[in-house]
Amino acid sequence: MKVNQAEITISAVKPEQYPEDGYPEFALAGRSNVGKSSFINKMIGRKSLARTSSKPGKTQTLNFYKIEDQFFFVDVPGYGYAKVSKSEREAWGKMIERYITGREQLRAVIQLVDLRHPPSKDDILMYDFLKHYNLPCIIVATKADKIPRSRLQKHRKIIKDALGLDPSDPLILFSSETGQGKEEAWAELEKRMK
Ligand code: GDP
Repeated sequence: MKVNQAEITISAVKPEQYPEDGYPEFALAGRSNVGKSSFINKMIGRKSLARTSSKPGKTQTLNFYKIEDQFFFVDVPGYGYAKVSKSEREAWGKMIERYITGREQLRAVIQLVDLRHPPSKDDILMYDFLKHYNLPCIIVATKADKIPRSRLQKHRKIIKDALGLDPSDPLILFSSETGQGKEEAWAELEKRMK
């Protein structure tokens, strides 16, 4: 898909605030700094539509980006902050759970993990949580340009095994620097928009 039009539509905490257009939605989940904003920007060919790195302590909202009047990317605030309080963590969990379990338009969750490292405990918890609700997932392993080509498959396998990847969930090696994985990611999205 060639994207000409992309805008942040709405920041929402509660269901009443979600957009009502009815377009398919793809949520993006991942640790802060994993490369989520870079992924969105690379996919839509922008330099800085998606805010980079929402800082801990800031209001945590779901950000809906409307793309080409066809679908939404829904940016879920990054998990894995050591510093957030228990009550903040719980509010975060509730917000995500409510969205993920009750949203008919949600076609898949794009979970981003850093290809350089084995998935963290939080990555694994997140994936288990998503699979507990039987959500289709697309795993995007970021920063692939940082791994020598000869070791890509080894890193891929570590992620696949650590997550206990469901065979129906694709795992895409991605780089926002080189564009590696971009076409594959688009193909997975377009398949699910029909
Ligand atoms: P977010 O917090 O998940 O939104 O992460 P960002 O998109 O802000 O990226 C965090 C840092 O990782 C930034 O310094 C990015 O430039 C860098 N980064 C993100 N994706 C890639 C990638 O594919 N390759 C490389 N080399 N760096 C990346």
